[in-house]
Amino acid sequence: MANRGKDFLRRVVEEDLKSGKYSKIVTRFPPEPNGFPHIGHAKSISINFGIAKEYGGECNLRMDDTNPTTENIEFVEALKDAVEWLGFKWSGDVRYTSDYFPQLYNYAIKLIQMGKAYVDSISEEEIREYRGTVTTAGRRSIYAERSVEENLDLFNRMRNGEFKEGEHVLRAKIDMSSPNMKMRDPLLYRIKRATHFRAGDKWAIYPMYDFAHPLSDYIEGVTHSICTLEFENNRDIYNWLIETLELEPPRPYQYEFARLNINYTVMSKRKILELIEKNVVSGWDDPRLPTIAGLRRRGYTPEAILSFCEQIGVAKANSIVDIAQLEFAIRDDLNPKVPRVMSVFKPLKVTIENYSGFEEINASYYPHDVPKEGSRKLPFSKEIYIEQEDFMENPPKGYYRLTPNQPVRLKYAYIISCEKVIKDESGNIVEIRARYYPNSKSGSDSSGIKVKSAIQWVEANSAKKIEVRLYDRLFKTEIPEGIEDINPNSLKIIENALIEPAVIEDKTNNRFQFERHGYFYRESGERAVFNRIVPLKDSWSKKLQRGRRERVKERRQVEGRVIPMTPEEKILFERYTKEHNLNREVANTLARDNRLSQFYREALQEFNSPIAIANIITNEVARELKVKNLDELKFSPKDIADLVKMLEDETISTKIAKGVFEEMSRSGKEPIRIVEERGLQQINDKSLILSVVKEVIHRNPENLKKFKDGNRRLQGFFIGEVLKATNGKANPKIVNELVIRELNR
Ligand code: ATP
Ligand code: MG
Repeated sequence: MANRGKDFLRRVVEEDLKSGKYSKIVTRFPPEPNGFPHIGHAKSISINFGIAKEYGGECNLRMDDTNPTTENIEFVEALKDAVEWLGFKWSGDVRYTSDYFPQLYNYAIKLIQMGKAYVDSISEEEIREYRGTVTTAGRRSIYAERSVEENLDLFNRMRNGEFKEGEHVLRAKIDMSSPNMKMRDPLLYRIKRATHFRAGDKWAIYPMYDFAHPLSDYIEGVTHSICTLEFENNRDIYNWLIETLELEPPRPYQYEFARLNINYTVMSKRKILELIEKNVVSGWDDPRLPTIAGLRRRGYTPEAILSFCEQIGVAKANSIVDIAQLEFAIRDDLNPKVPRVMSVFKPLKVTIENYSGFEEINASYYPHDVPKEGSRKLPFSKEIYIEQEDFMENPPKGYYRLTPNQPVRLKYAYIISCEKVIKDESGNIVEIRARYYPNSKSGSDSSGIKVKSAIQWVEANSAKKIEVRLYDRLFKTEIPEGIEDINPNSLKIIENALIEPAVIEDKTNNRFQFERHGYFYRESGERAVFNRIVPLKDSWSKKLQRGRRERVKERRQVEGRVIPMTPEEKILFERYTKEHNLNREVANTLARDNRLSQFYREALQEFNSPIAIANIITNEVARELKVKNLDELKFSPKDIADLVKMLEDETISTKIAKGVFEEMSRSGKEPIRIVEERGLQQINDKSLILSVVKEVIHRNPENLKKFKDGNRRLQGFFIGEVLKATNGKANPKIVNELVIRELNR
């Protein structure tokens, strides 16, 4: 069947179009303008606008403005903004339920005339009491016996403002013993003496949701009225109204889907408003909030939010989605798109004593596996800053960065070694005096010096100061009860971080990956302030496969609630996030899985590179462990550590690493042996790669011509061919650089 795999809403829509029930689909997004929209609304927006778009229909944006005391124009603007920012267009003008007040009033008159509605005059309390309970029937108030004339007269006077609030209400006359409590003579109108932000003081009565909503749908010619599950029982009123009023077809039908809930946050305008009023957050667009405005200011893209909505799908059962899924979506979106740059959050000065002068190093903005153009100049001089944690005087075993006895590569630049450690009176390291190796420059290294890693740095005089804002989850508990569950560390500010100058001078990008630190977004305004959108994650597993795997995992999470951690797991989780700097998603996976956790700790003993090792374990090893026991694995934690070592010192590329992993898990051979026997070492020799590049270009004259004629995408083709010709061994960064150079000759 063509319908298979579609969600239930789309199946309904397809069926209705096929059967000719409607010739065109009309949906609507009907928010109440009493707050800023949140990511739950994004889900509703993506469903309503998405379905209309897919099936050639239309979607209205309707402000459900029936409560004058909580609504205002600022919220209307925020709602319009959110829909547009997500990339949707509403049909015609924005609509307002308040514009239908006269029509709605007439429908009410008609119901009264039909004997189907009456003015009730008992108190709110009595109304509740008379309604009965789920197990006992309710009873009607004596006012239900009023004549049509009396009802018409009272209702008219209610409208004219002759009564006080609560004195009378208009109710539908349905069934006080209905098993559906909602059908026990629901309220249709109430008296409210307040100035409406659009209708002014014209009305002293306002329609209730249950009355206004179905009829507004009908007035607009809506076909599918999609709402969240809590309105399931209201559907009977919806149908009763449309049927009782004998409205001309076509008529709308209501369908319900599960509301979006996410852990570690709150998702209701009322609760968000409380956070604002209590100054827990700075406003509706605080980057820690799940509001669209907050996510946007944090640096989320509409693409990521929509892809998140698509991944969680449309379900009939309520569940809590793990916030890690949202974080996955933004990483997945930004990873291939944004430039990668160097920054230093906790600077340690390094003076390179044997370097004089100044140079600018051309460095690619994009990682080697992203066939995207763009580079920037990195200034370099004898004074630079590195991250404090990238130097250790007394390193533990397996520390691969700079030490008094261990040289390190400055990424994209030279290898340096430490000559002298300068300390202040209290013994803090304040400066490193270093030496560089002139023939060790990245890309043309003939120094023969072996280093175990490359670290980031910025040049001291050209580096720019920025403020960095590191956000964490707003609540410390998965299902927050209230303000007492707020995470006190949800915002950490680093006032004087350093960034390479290109980031400030770059006028086309405002999102960057700060290597090792995460994805960042520049706040608008004069001051250079960067919000961390999300920390980094996995850097080596093949993207596509990872995507698929995550999605499978995520679907499973959606089905059930997130299980809280045991105290032991919490301790591990804390340690992994705080001490090992693992991101929460990875730490969460490790902490909750005994076998993975054990494997991880053993690998760490061999080689102290927590992030890289944890990533491989939570992805590749975890996959193996789905079908095997620990003792059935053919590789050891040490093998994983060795593999990571080779990756980090660039002996092999990520692509090759993947293959090596597969072979070692199949054959049980040590990774170092696999690499040596099969000659998988990465080719870094520029002239060798250049000859392959020239050869590939020479063999593909037609594609070269198309490229020259403007099909820039073919650059990816050439890069792919060169990689293929070297069995994936050529250093992709160099391939990228040379292909671009040669193609543009
Ligand atoms: P809140 O509780 O945050 O105030 P609401 O349901 O009162 O939300 P409305 O402005 O009335 O918000 O909702 C507009 C539309 O968005 C409705 O169709 C509603 O069902 C939908 N919606 C609101 N919250 C969610 C959510 N968490 N998940 C999916 N849809 C939602
Ligand atoms: Mg509401």
